[in-house]
Amino acid sequence: MSDHRDRSCSSTRIWSGLLALGLAAGLLTAAPAAEARPRAPEKVPVAEGYGGAVATVDPDATAAGIEMLRRGGNAVDAAVAAAATLGVTEPYSAGIGGGGFFVFHDGRTGEVHTLDGRETAPAAMQADSFTEDGAPIPFAEAVTSGLSVGVPGTPATWETALERWGTVSMNRALSRATTVARRGFVVDETFRQQTADNAERFADFPATAELFLPDGELPEVGTRLRNPDLADTYRLMAREGADAITTGEVAEDVVATVQDPPLAEDSDRVARPGLMTLQDLAGYEVVDREPTVVGYRGLEVYGMAPPSSGGTTVGQALNMLEQVELGELDETQVLHRYLEASGIAFADRNRWVGDPEAVDVPVEELLSDEFAAERACLISPDSTLPRPIAPGSPDGDYADACPEPGEALGPAGPEGPSTTHLTTADRWGNVVSYTLTIEQTGGSGIVVPGRGFLLNNELTDFSFTDTQGGDDPNLPGPGKRPRSSMSPTIVLRDGEPWLALGSPGGATIITTVLQTLVNRVDLGMSLPEAVAAPRASERNGTSTQAEPGFETAELVALGHAFSATPEIGAATGVELLPDGRLQAVAEPERRGGGSAMVVDPAEPERRR
Ligand code: GLU
Repeated sequence: MSDHRDRSCSSTRIWSGLLALGLAAGLLTAAPAAEARPRAPEKVPVAEGYGGAVATVDPDATAAGIEMLRRGGNAVDAAVAAAATLGVTEPYSAGIGGGGFFVFHDGRTGEVHTLDGRETAPAAMQADSFTEDGAPIPFAEAVTSGLSVGVPGTPATWETALERWGTVSMNRALSRATTVARRGFVVDETFRQQTADNAERFADFPATAELFLPDGELPEVGTRLRNPDLADTYRLMAREGADAITTGEVAEDVVATVQDPPLAEDSDRVARPGLMTLQDLAGYEVVDREPTVVGYRGLEVYGMAPPSSGGTTVGQALNMLEQVELGELDETQVLHRYLEASGIAFADRNRWVGDPEAVDVPVEELLSDEFAAERACLISPDSTLPRPIAPGSPDGDYADACPEPGEALGPAGPEGPSTTHLTTADRWGNVVSYTLTIEQTGGSGIVVPGRGFLLNNELTDFSFTDTQGGDDPNLPGPGKRPRSSMSPTIVLRDGEPWLALGSPGGATIITTVLQTLVNRVDLGMSLPEAVAAPRASERNGTSTQAEPGFETAELVALGHAFSATPEIGAATGVELLPDGRLQAVAEPERRGGGSAMVVDPAEPERRR
């Protein structure tokens, strides 16, 4: 720790001059408030250079991370600064009312660490809490309710990451985000559309409507949306840390809101009360988890262990894909195998992965080469496996011959497409891959009155009823964390960080990360190409979702069935290029395009 702090102290001096340069170049500031028509900071999806890199979905957030790096902060400081800014500018995807998973490569030790900041179920939650009269409650009703609100983990995640690996205080880390909340951010088309998609339920909660439907209308593109309540909440956090949210007056407001969702008087919406108490909030703990790791074609792929299914499912699929030399196959065969491996890995994920504190998750076996070999032998080059594929038995007892398929189980419950992923890297070899969420776009739809943030609906990631033949590992339980698909990933080559990436998108997160890795590693695409390429998401359902542009004809001939979907995921990543430059990468198109920046586009020597 002291090493980092010492280094950053001296680098603060070195980089303070650069900060002035950055400001002069207009890289770091949003348009001045006095401007008649405010402009958002410029947004580019790819940036290459030196000194550090940040990629997020949003230019204010990326600029906040870059500003932190320019001022001498490290990748962890930058990640928290960017995440806090996303809490302002992407409030429907991320914020202190939610949770996430933080994967960190420590440049000093070469180790990868992960923080599990997943929301937890209240102590009073039971396996049948999402049922009434034996039947699951309607999913949409569960989403917009106090019942689905998990105890938020994001405040404690930021605090833990900063304390353990960062170099700045919470005050410093939140400062830029607080300014953006106070001055406002420029509404873009994506934000307006997301608001429109949620307008009906937002209108039912006065605190939500006041913030996101000013004067009862959708915010107009190009106008500034301010959130002074969130600025105040961030100021409290700056002084008191995560306790400002999990204890005291904010906690009382959170609990009151969850237990009695503050509907408009004339609303006839059913918004069920939640079970969260002050003790649940005060007792929240971030958990250190061993990362998952698999070897893939000479690389080490680190991911997030359960309760996320990201690390095990991406890792298992990669292990299956490694059974053949994909580089020697044509693109159709590569994609066929990607889809089959994904379908099989999802069958196993649904059957075996849940919160490891509550159920026994065979992580080691799911990630073993022997299990991968047993499962991969089901894949035929000429045809598809009939869906649903039955789960395998990761029990350490593997047959030489391909085992007879067992009984197929049902698909897991729905998971909504929201969330956000950010990637940061600094010049000391620190890398952060951080996915954070409030679950659905707009979370529960419920803003805590006077506090400026939405509460999550993460508990809808639990199975409402058993989907796995009596052995569903993802049923709700007291203090349990719902299974996630978030897949923040860091890839090492020769022991050094090479690539980091992640995406939002519910269960499609797993396939987006997997496909992007296959594109990059096996199909020879650059990272920007790998991110931009059309996606398909196969999750052991009746059909594979495919974006426009994903070539299906030859895959259909092999037996694949596709359903069209406009968009899958919104990835960001950073790669270390062979010439020593960092390449920050965001989406060129999806969700309106993301924002990539580096500290210094020019080589340091050339600049002087
Ligand atoms: N709640 C989802 C998960 O944890 C993420 C939500 C999303 O990306 O849509 O996997």
